[in-house]
Amino acid sequence: MKQLELLYEGKSKLIYATDCSERVVVRFKDDATAFYNIKRAKIENKGKMNCAISSNILAFLEANGINTHFVEQIDETSQLCRVVEHLPFEVIVRNVIAGSMAKRLGIDEGVVPENTIFDLCLKDEELGDPLINDHHAVALGLATYEELVKIYEISARVNTLLTELYAGVGIRLVDFKVEFGRSSDGELVLADELTPDTCRIWDIETGECMDKDRFRRDLGRVRETYQEVASRLCNALNK
Ligand code: UDP
Repeated sequence: MKQLELLYEGKSKLIYATDCSERVVVRFKDDATAFYNIKRAKIENKGKMNCAISSNILAFLEANGINTHFVEQIDETSQLCRVVEHLPFEVIVRNVIAGSMAKRLGIDEGVVPENTIFDLCLKDEELGDPLINDHHAVALGLATYEELVKIYEISARVNTLLTELYAGVGIRLVDFKVEFGRSSDGELVLADELTPDTCRIWDIETGECMDKDRFRRDLGRVRETYQEVASRLCNALNK
């Protein structure tokens, strides 16, 4: 497979066309951004670590029956992925209250709800990625009610799989974000990265934060912590 022109540059990834119309190359960058680009930095080897973490997690999910856009890791910072039509909203899954939900509703971070919480957010930076509900998503033509049922089912299954995977390496999965796409045959597939940039994970023993909040909140040791997550996960998954 030959890598061709750059199609899109995002905050943390570059997407390249390939000589196969059904495949793209996703390259992970070292850039870290927060608060809509107000805070920016380069974190040495973040691209490499996130590519390894996301590739291992997506392969693990595929092996457990979740359809994803991931095909294979092709070098230290790149993955070969299926071309999909990305749905323009994010699904956030919360096992523990933290971040924007804690702030918006005045709940202490760390409170454990009785149920798993699913949020939908429209991907529109100008509007501040607003929280939407199922009816908004259908009214905006982003998905059908039937697709939303499937999206919640898949997100819940991913949550169960990832919660167990992380627990096995001494990490508590607090919350995470997933995105979906439609493949050419209309199938819903998971279609983005799953890395410490897109989740909250806390060390079970020490409670230490092991995700992007280290960068957002100036907690220090961002690179070392991502490396620790990569080593624990990759060892557990034998890669
Ligand atoms: N998240 C993400 N991308 C976004 C928004 C949120 O990956 O555009 C992740 C975030 O890292 C966290 C979870 O989704 O793990 C919940 O984020 P929250 O709504 O608390 O927003 P935050 O306060 O982190 O911006």
